[in-house]
Amino acid sequence: MPLRLARTKVPRGEEYDVVIIGGGPAGLSAAIYTSRFLMKTLVVAEQIGGQLNLTDAVDDYPGLKRITASALVQAFRSHAEMFKPTIVELVRVEGFERDDSSGYPRFHVWGTRKLDVYAKTIILAVGSKRRKLGVPGEKEFAGKGVSYCSVCDAPFFKGAEAVAVVGGGDAAFEGALMLSGYAKKVYLIHRRDQFRAKPHFVEQAKRTPNIEFVLNSVVVEIRGDTKVRSVVVRNVKTGEIREIPVEGVFIEIGFEPPKEWFQRLGLETDEIGYVKVDEWMRTNIPGVFAAGDCTSMWKGFRQVITAAAMGAVAAYSAYNYLAEKGLYRPSQLLLA
Ligand code: NAP
Repeated sequence: MPLRLARTKVPRGEEYDVVIIGGGPAGLSAAIYTSRFLMKTLVVAEQIGGQLNLTDAVDDYPGLKRITASALVQAFRSHAEMFKPTIVELVRVEGFERDDSSGYPRFHVWGTRKLDVYAKTIILAVGSKRRKLGVPGEKEFAGKGVSYCSVCDAPFFKGAEAVAVVGGGDAAFEGALMLSGYAKKVYLIHRRDQFRAKPHFVEQAKRTPNIEFVLNSVVVEIRGDTKVRSVVVRNVKTGEIREIPVEGVFIEIGFEPPKEWFQRLGLETDEIGYVKVDEWMRTNIPGVFAAGDCTSMWKGFRQVITAAAMGAVAAYSAYNYLAEKGLYRPSQLLLA
């Protein structure tokens, strides 16, 4: 894990040109750009790296043929740090609201560990939460065989007789392929017989002898005693119920954004809960921009490069917003 403990003091009372909420590829890319625009920048992250921390390796980021996800997180981080934004981690922003007491538009931003700052602009790059199946046994066996991150937990299943991966996207396939090196048998359970995953993942999984596809099937229950012992699936075409003995169930069925939180903040979302943005990453709240997996932009194509691109655009828009409002004051500190 690339996590480094926060040494930076959590700021209180300070005003920033931009507060970037989130430390994944979108947030760190935004920080590189806002700092390069000499904007006084604060990045508040629960965990630097975001969802990249849940991936094994990346081989589709231009210029980097293949890099481990943790090395890529470090590369993003050290690149951002070169331009001296303030980065605080292990801190969660709980809310923000408009505060015009200073005579110009800005936001009051607060969070855990007594974070309490002001921001002339905000870039939301908070990603999404893992989607749950919502079946009996899922909650009960979380951490006792039920996992939401194959690439993080696969090594714990070394020598297991069998495990199951649920989902038909890149994460499920990446997970199944990785698990096939640890467990003797991997069942890939998917509700359809078509996959969202990239074709090269699907082809590789089909060629892997210890991966068995269980298609047109949904998980109806996860069973066990002190830990997971089996998964019960129902074929959606035939109605047939099958209980498959497994030691682990990896739920890789995508992400969902924190819709209620966004709505409480006054942000417009789409029907799923992704923050609506225009092509300049502007939200419905002037001065608030959003980037990466939490937005409605390119939502069928979540990649490191798309998140980074959105972060760069959001930074440029935040800079333009300050310039248009006459609020842009290049930070002398950053010029030093
Ligand atoms: P995803 O692409 O949204 O796929 C989620 C999968 O779970 C879909 O196959 C979906 O089925 C299924 N699903 C959703 N809700 C379900 C439910 N309630 N019950 C059963 N199945 C359900 O999510 P992801 O695989 O986590 O990937 C997220 C993003 O990260 C994607 O953009 C992906 O490309 C990216 N990613 C990339 C890599 C890589 O390139 N190395 C690795 C991991 C993730 P349907 O298809 O029927 O909707």
